[in-house]
Amino acid sequence: MFDNLSDKLDKAFHILKGHGKITDVNVADTLKEVRRALLDADVNFKIAKDFTTRVRDKAIGENVLTTLQPGQLMVKIVKDELTELMGGDAAGINLSGTPTVILMSGLQGSGKTTFSGKLANYLKTKKNKKPLLVACDIYRPAAINQLHVVGGQIGVEVYSEEGNRNPVEIAQNAIKHAKANGFNVVIVDTAGRLAVDEEMMNEIANVHKAIEPQETLFVVDAMTGQDAVNTAKAFNDRLDFDGVILTKLDGDTRGGAAITIKSVVNKPIKFVGTGEKMEAIDVFYPARMAERILGMGDVVSLVERAQEQYDEEEARKLQKKIAKNEFGFDDFLSQIQQVKKMGNMKDLVGMIPGAGKALKDVEIEDDAFKHIEAIIHSMTPAERSKPAVLDAKRKTRIAKGSGTSIQQVNQLLKQFDQMSKMMKMMQGGAGKNLMRMMGG
Ligand code: GDP
Repeated sequence: MFDNLSDKLDKAFHILKGHGKITDVNVADTLKEVRRALLDADVNFKIAKDFTTRVRDKAIGENVLTTLQPGQLMVKIVKDELTELMGGDAAGINLSGTPTVILMSGLQGSGKTTFSGKLANYLKTKKNKKPLLVACDIYRPAAINQLHVVGGQIGVEVYSEEGNRNPVEIAQNAIKHAKANGFNVVIVDTAGRLAVDEEMMNEIANVHKAIEPQETLFVVDAMTGQDAVNTAKAFNDRLDFDGVILTKLDGDTRGGAAITIKSVVNKPIKFVGTGEKMEAIDVFYPARMAERILGMGDVVSLVERAQEQYDEEEARKLQKKIAKNEFGFDDFLSQIQQVKKMGNMKDLVGMIPGAGKALKDVEIEDDAFKHIEAIIHSMTPAERSKPAVLDAKRKTRIAKGSGTSIQQVNQLLKQFDQMSKMMKMMQGGAGKNLMRMMGG
């Protein structure tokens, strides 16, 4: 995420390395580079200029008081200013109202339908809500189908009316349906167009007026940079929305939209989308985002993601299996699945402080577990639970079936063996001794 920008800012701060203190001259050189980095990330000129002016004033003002080195001081000031620019504190979602009505707006292809599903899933699993998804795109039957598919994936009901050409009516009927059937959140997905046009604006403004949503969210593709900001402005002028959803932050996004949108429309970014899967949704925290932009990692989010995937029941079952020496490849596979749910590998590595920079040139496969999974899938259930039966003939069959080589199969078996031994040790004698030593 934002690799290029992080890189360039890092180089800008390097100018101060070796300097004992911040002076008008070295600060000017650094800030020129910071400004260039921001412009390259598609931040608009005025915002970039105001930003560096504020940073300069702070840097010169704080210079005398601090014990930090100039480089560190500059990183801290830039981090604070970036946080402020992106909205300061995280903005929550308003869940008042019975039901809470959430209206989704945005251009076609922005990720509106995908995000509607992600939000429904988030509210269902994290906030204990019973959401209803509503398909209000009367122009594209495919869009209605898509929402039904998404709803099916996450187990959330989708309301649609075949043949009804009036989105206001559909939305109103959906809210009635929600009230009558105990849904406490209604998420209305509306029609988007390829570009801002009057008809679409009128239509969504009418829906907005009729259903008076607690939250009107504007969805925008972060990859579109300054266009994203301009579109946000056009929608905000008409809808006065409550918050922005920035999607596709997992791609090669330059960062401009994330950094500038708040200051242009004066509405906070509430969530970001970081992938195509239903779990790829994050609450937007400006301070954490600033840290990531500056290559400082984001351990808090990483730990949170791990905690979200942690299932106590599963962990207990697993522990029993290890104790009984029954840990097999099926368990291994489910462990991999859990890690994968945390997000794509590159994204996760980027959250480890320093790792993003250190591994910048290392190609991290999006699907790093692909071969391992293929190998395990080519095993029979019996082989998975008792890998000891794997002889040369079976290994050849597995390698063929999974499109890998015998070496790769052997390597996985070796890794698995080492892991099993280690787990047994932690469980058994050594672990117990260690616990005793620690007074457990
Ligand atoms: P809509 O026309 O606004 O409803 O957009 P869709 O929800 O159909 O999304 C358009 C495309 O973007 C689809 O292929 C989605 O899978 C993809 N997409 C949506 N959100 C994300 C995201 O956060 N990251 C990535 N990489 N792709 C996304």
